[in-house]
Formats: sequence, structure tokens, C-alpha cells
Amino acid sequence: MTALFDQNRFTLIAGPCSVESEEQITGIARAVKAAGAMLLRGGAFKPRTSPYDFQGLKEEGIRLLLLAKAETGLPVVTEITGVRELPLFEKVDVIQIGSRNMQNFELLKEVGRLGKPVLLKRGMAATLREFLMSAEYILAEGNEDVILCERGIRTFDDYTRNTLDLAVIPLLKELSHLPVIADPSHGTGLARLVPPMALAAAATGADGLMIEVHNDPAHALSDGEQAITPEEFARLTERIRGVRKAAGLL
Ligand code: PEP
Ligand code: MN
Repeated sequence: MTALFDQNRFTLIAGPCSVESEEQITGIARAVKAAGAMLLRGGAFKPRTSPYDFQGLKEEGIRLLLLAKAETGLPVVTEITGVRELPLFEKVDVIQIGSRNMQNFELLKEVGRLGKPVLLKRGMAATLREFLMSAEYILAEGNEDVILCERGIRTFDDYTRNTLDLAVIPLLKELSHLPVIADPSHGTGLARLVPPMALAAAATGADGLMIEVHNDPAHALSDGEQAITPEEFARLTERIRGVRKAAGLL
């Protein structure tokens, strides 16, 4: 298992949905690091529902993310959307496979041949078996550094963007030896629900969290409704420690 997701520590991943500018990503990187984040997230290649929505800064986004890494020392996590992008990910620390690509088997096999960690997000309509089989595609190629991420599934209720399926966290930990984290940002779609669901996920025994943080959520180029501010993130990390202690996880 990767040292970045050591079983003995709680791994906090934070950052904006999308990398938007040098100022934005370095500013957020500094703030989340000060609040206890261990990895910086930020999308450069964005899988968007509408082709007319912001598609990410792509190659330039990766460059800016690496700049933020150089400034803060935070390793970076970013999503790959297709095999052709692979050469651009050489210096990226953790490759994210998004929900929409969880069953892109060719992509899974390709990242399985790399010697770097892969953060695999659950497909929005994937069963637990399908999720585990997708992880298996990566493992079968010889890459054992896979991190599972529960990010909410689609249910009949559309009040929240997705339904964060917290029961799968202890279940996945029972069924596999892989680290399991939760993403309460995509899991709810609503910033005010992120702190309570982050705390709940921490209490289930998750190995970490991935949280979208933006300095100016109202003007974010993607997913502003679910972004918390760096100040809110800092308050949340304090409470997470308390919850883990109360749950006997520390
Ligand atoms: C993301 O983390 O930026 C993302 C697009 O998430 P998901 O694949 O879970 O929708
Ligand atoms: Mn997002």
C-alpha cells in the first residue's frame, strides 16, 4: 500500500473541483495545507455533463497543479479522462479515475501498468461488486496502490446530488485490504451538508476524505454549490479529529 495512504493515518485530500488559475490553486493549496490536508486535489481534465460547460485547463491545469505542489510540498491528485492523456500525468502523484470512467476497462488496465497510486471513484450506478471488480482490473496488472472512494450513488431522491452510501465504507474494509475514503462533496452536492457527512464518514472508519475547497465558491468554474471555504475546511479538520477520537479510531 502506498505511503500516502498509510493505514495508521487519516488522509485528508482537499482542493478545488477544477484548477482555474495559478493564484487560485496555489492560494487554496497553502490554505488547505495549513488546515491539515496531506494531498492537494484539482481537476485539469473535467468530465462535464454539458459540452458547453468549462472542460478544465487540461495540460495547463496539470502544470499549475505541479506548481502548487512545488510551492507547498503537497502531493497532487488529479483525474485522467482518457488513455491519450497519460504522458501528461508523469509527475502527478496520484491518478484519479472518476465515477464516469469506473468501468472504462482499457483505462483501468493502462493505469494498472503504472507504478503510482490510483484513486478509484465508485461509479454513480455501480454495485459494490462492480466497484471491487474495477479495482481488480488495476490490481491484476500489477499495481497494488489502489484507493477506493465512495462518492455517492444515484437514487430516487434528487434533493441531494447523490446519496452518500456510508454503509459501504466498513463493508469495503471488510471485503478488501485497500484504503477506503469518502467524498462528501460529490456525495451531497451541497456545501452545508459536507461537514456533517464528512464527520459521519470519519466515524465509520474511513481511511480519509476527499473534499472540494474553493476560496470563492460563488464564482467557481465548476461545482461551486458543493465547495466549502478554506476556513470551513480548517474548522472541519478539527472536528474530524474529535469524532475519530470519540469513535475509538485514534
Ligand atoms: C471529481 O472528483 O472532480 C469528480 C468529477 O468526481 P466524480 O468522478 O466522483 O463525479
Ligand atoms: Mn467536482
